[in-house]
Amino acid sequence: MSTLRFHAIKETFNRPVINVNEPERRSSIFGQNVFNNDAMRQYLTKDSYKSVQDAIVNGSKIDRSVADHISTGMKEWAISKGATHYTHWFQPLTGSTAEKHDAFFETTEDGAIEKFGGGQLVQQEPDASSFPNGGIRNTFEARGYTAWDPTSPAFIFGTTLCIPTVFVAYTGEALDNKTPLLRALQSVDQAATAVAKYFDKSVAKVNATLGWEQEYFLIDKALAKSRPDINLAGRTLLGHASAKGQQLDDHYFGSIPTRVLNYMRDLETESMLLGIPVKTRHNEVAPNQFELAPIFEETNLAVDHNSLLMDVMNKVADRHNFTVLFHEKPFAGINGSGKHNNWSLATNTGVNLLGPGSTPMKNLQFLTFFINTIKAVNEYEELLRAAIASASNDHRLGANEAPPAIISVFIGSQLTAVLDELEKVKNGKLSPEDKTDLKLNVVGKIPEILLDNTDRNRTSPFAFTGNKFEFRAVGSTANCAKPMTVLNAIVAKQLIDFKDKVDGLIKDKKMKKDDAIFNVLREYIKDSKRIRFEGDGYGEAWEKEAKKRKLSNNKTTPEALKAQISKSTIDLYEGLGIMSKVEIEARHEIEIEEYALRIQIEGRVLGDIARNHVIPTAIRYQNILIENVQGIKDIYGKNFKKFAGEQMSLIEQISEHIEKINKGITEMINERKKANKLNDSEKLAMDYCHKVKPYFDEIRYHCDKLELLVDDELWPLTKYRELLFTR
Ligand code: ADP
Ligand code: MG
Repeated sequence: MSTLRFHAIKETFNRPVINVNEPERRSSIFGQNVFNNDAMRQYLTKDSYKSVQDAIVNGSKIDRSVADHISTGMKEWAISKGATHYTHWFQPLTGSTAEKHDAFFETTEDGAIEKFGGGQLVQQEPDASSFPNGGIRNTFEARGYTAWDPTSPAFIFGTTLCIPTVFVAYTGEALDNKTPLLRALQSVDQAATAVAKYFDKSVAKVNATLGWEQEYFLIDKALAKSRPDINLAGRTLLGHASAKGQQLDDHYFGSIPTRVLNYMRDLETESMLLGIPVKTRHNEVAPNQFELAPIFEETNLAVDHNSLLMDVMNKVADRHNFTVLFHEKPFAGINGSGKHNNWSLATNTGVNLLGPGSTPMKNLQFLTFFINTIKAVNEYEELLRAAIASASNDHRLGANEAPPAIISVFIGSQLTAVLDELEKVKNGKLSPEDKTDLKLNVVGKIPEILLDNTDRNRTSPFAFTGNKFEFRAVGSTANCAKPMTVLNAIVAKQLIDFKDKVDGLIKDKKMKKDDAIFNVLREYIKDSKRIRFEGDGYGEAWEKEAKKRKLSNNKTTPEALKAQISKSTIDLYEGLGIMSKVEIEARHEIEIEEYALRIQIEGRVLGDIARNHVIPTAIRYQNILIENVQGIKDIYGKNFKKFAGEQMSLIEQISEHIEKINKGITEMINERKKANKLNDSEKLAMDYCHKVKPYFDEIRYHCDKLELLVDDELWPLTKYRELLFTR
């Protein structure tokens, strides 16, 4: 009997109930472990407080002597909350978060004290050599350092004070995901503020907002650990479908299983303490799949909160004997997980720039940002696709459950009608009658509350949902910084171009402001028609149509990533000061390498499981069958086939599958060997994608067939039905 599998199942059945302490009111603990404004007011001098606020709002530098005061206040606050250590908390290009804990404790001549100086707050030097750098540091032989980002508040997790930081090389190149994001957010702030001033002179700042929706699977820890593929690759590489999957639609929004609910309550309490405003929880489509969503926040903070939450989810899961699977496709045949990124722009005056208003002027403002966003996506659709490319997300895109690999924008029939009308606006100056007509009959007709009226096209990768755009193609494992850097950068660039054009018409053609705006918007609507698509994104017809429209359809990561280093991307990032060519190419190098490595790991794990777990088990069962046939022959002599026919056919089938598996593995290994000889990382990734990976399906197919043939008692790998229906 296969002991690990059955041990794991037994352990799962005997799980004790984990009790959870929840506060009566969540609001009472919200942000308790965050060095937020309240804590700052209590622990900082007036001057220090002011200088941090200034840094947050205006991005001003914090004086070194002030930093000493701030660090002392922060330390006192942290110690009062039971913290013993501090760490700079950053997001290297691995996509996850990094931390290195140092104690506050220091020895002095007369003994020991708790110390945390301004220098330690502002800058640290983690040993950078082990983080991916895409050749940046080799080129410049520079070390890296982390530097405090005051716009994302420090927090305590466990007994450690965590200080969000950027991670950069001494030569200035960003070695993390946060630095380019901050630069993109600054660009979009500047560009959007300038445009918003057309409508309201008092606007001084525009924040990009992000509300992510995190999907995940929750599997009992013992069951997950019993599978080498889940352990090493984060997903099942084989496993026959469970007889019951999601076909009855009985999981989605169903009542949440008690053990899972306890996990969620615990997780949400932790999130509250950390100031992560989680709000929504529910079952997702697939069995054991769930979703968690917060109230949206300023993008930098929201990105940090998502990274932090993923970390907290793992830690809380451990307490509840669960393993969280963030992988985009942990199980074949049932839905995978994504992370919708809801995005908008909000002014410091409290206006959502993508929210229609109550007057024609407010609606013209809405249309301006709305149409510019569509235009931006139209110009940079391929870069947006690249931003969400990964080996794991490739399983999801285009798999008839998630958006296709073609980027398009869905806006709904009402707004389509508005854009169609606007497209008819006359060229040049508008007569007073034209304008009245426009304002009354087109712009004025956008209902203030579109939210309930927007159709919900679930197949669109980039959909307008009433007062925000929803980028749905983002994968569940992704660090939101990547798609958010691209989206905010392209919108920034677009708004800058827009303002140039409008100002040009006002100055050179002596147009009135709103005439100029209408004229430019009309051209943009025409220019970006190809990106708008309201139909079924899953259908083959759309692939054909998209090809006609010259939209990209990069189905695999190595293909998709090319757009990251195209001339237009380099111009975009360099032009806005978001990344240099070196930084751009380094990121591409890291991602393309990571892709190949992930496929390589999967190939090795699959080969190992198939050869060392599946085949020996199949042979063992085959031997039992052979013994059985032999026994029947002993009893019935010549006539034995009458009684042993089925068994003999099984013996043959097993041999055939074993042969196919072995052949597949041998060929796959040969392809890996050939690929590994390539020096060019892009060619290597292409080979892994198109020559190695295709063997996965072939090998899996025969393993899964064997799973159906072999005695259940002997089967060593925890089965789909056990992984998905035990909780
Ligand atoms: P769903 O897409 O599942 O129907 P909702 O539309 O209610 O759910 O919202 C999903 C997410 O969108 C939530 O996390 C919410 O905070 C976020 N969201 C709502 N408004 C905005 C906005 N203006 N900017 C960014 N995110 C937003
Ligand atoms: Mg959504």
